[in-house]
Amino acid sequence: MMKKRSWAEPYKIKMVEPLRMLSRKEREKAMEEAGYNTFLLRSEDVYIDLLTDSGTSAMSDRQWAGLMLGDEAYAGSRNFYHLEETVREVYGYKYLVPTHQGRAAEHIISKILIKPGDYIPGNMYFTTTKLHQELAGGKFVDVIIDEAHDPESEHPFKGNVDLDKLQRLIDEVGADKIPYVAIATTVNMAGGQPISMANLKAVRELTQKYGIEIVHDMTRVAENAYMIQQNEEGYADKTVAEIVKEINSLTDHATMSAKKDALVNIGGFLATNDPDVFEQARNLVVVYEGLHTYGGLAGRDMEAMAIGIKESVMDEHQKARVGQVHYLGNLLLKEGIPVVKPIGTHGVFLDAKRFYPHLTQDEFPAQTLAAELYVDSGVRAMERGVVSAGRNPETGEHNYPKLELVRLTIPRRVYTQAHMDVVAESVAEVFQNAHKARGLKMVFEPKYLRFFQARFEKL
Ligand SMILES: *Cc1c(COP(=O)(O)O)cnc(C)c1O
Repeated sequence: MMKKRSWAEPYKIKMVEPLRMLSRKEREKAMEEAGYNTFLLRSEDVYIDLLTDSGTSAMSDRQWAGLMLGDEAYAGSRNFYHLEETVREVYGYKYLVPTHQGRAAEHIISKILIKPGDYIPGNMYFTTTKLHQELAGGKFVDVIIDEAHDPESEHPFKGNVDLDKLQRLIDEVGADKIPYVAIATTVNMAGGQPISMANLKAVRELTQKYGIEIVHDMTRVAENAYMIQQNEEGYADKTVAEIVKEINSLTDHATMSAKKDALVNIGGFLATNDPDVFEQARNLVVVYEGLHTYGGLAGRDMEAMAIGIKESVMDEHQKARVGQVHYLGNLLLKEGIPVVKPIGTHGVFLDAKRFYPHLTQDEFPAQTLAAELYVDSGVRAMERGVVSAGRNPETGEHNYPKLELVRLTIPRRVYTQAHMDVVAESVAEVFQNAHKARGLKMVFEPKYLRFFQARFEKL
């Protein structure tokens, strides 16, 4: 008989934060008051918060100790130099400009590299990334493989670039209209899907022929590296840390939301190997964020980030982090729940189109599903569908993405596997009652990144 050997988290719990669960009636009221937008719920009214993995991770005792080492000098903080040294050592980029979070780095790099009329190909859009490209006068072009748009495709590297699509764009608009290719590790909007090293190498080869650079959105690079280690030939014996460095070495500049991989509650940076871009970036950061040795962060934040970066590339950390996400995903698969396959690295994505085949995209199926889930159990998830995709800036019409998803995003080191069991049971319950859902109508729509603040009413 085969003996079952379980795995467990590579840490023990030192401090706890009590949770509160409202009654179903109270949850119904809270959801209505929040305009059926989970971003507008109060955190205190949430039982298990899977809205995002952004800034929600639990810091280690070492990171908390690091906070006490904050050097809050306006200029030249010791923690900045520690962070700079860590970025060089762990990530391999030469120059560092800290920012308060990822989108600030996206703002700065877009301003520096994009001219009005440029095209920015990328392995699927990300909300803030694309917006900053557009604000700088660029146009985003999706060049990810078709499998990424198919929630049932089991391609192990759905973050891969379709080289033919990229070549076609270069032929159509000319290389001088393409300052860079935007490569994300992992691809958030595709369901947390990794890009393979082989594909990244091929993208590098193709773009170098035309003098096109690569800007790396390295928000979840360690998670991507873990998936390469698990699934790509030739990488099983390499460490996550080694793979992270190899990925980065194939790119020119990077933007980082340290609120994800790097295990801090706030922080980000822009990194580059180009001294000219660095010079411009550290000048612009003074305009938008703060002096180039703090970029909108306290010294203590930079210290926690430096320590978190090192913890994030440890094999046993990624094994438990991604392992927990896969644990939840496999529970749902066993129940026959429609989820994006393969299971991604930072969350499980429910396929709202298959939950609610009776709803059209104009009735916001994913928004509806996130609301139903909260009412059922106090679990907070996030819409990633037509609301997140916004409107076409030229026609004013909704963008209708193929993927209409609800993201159950798992914060790092925060919840136990028992919490995952509770979540899976609630999703199964909502799935059973799916035929009763009626959809929503939008009654308030903000101009930018509407998914954060839009309000809805039940149809
Ligand atoms: C979160 C995120 C960003 C933006 O970072 P913020 O820190 O939230 O500003 C950019 N790209 C990806 C892939 C992300 O997940």
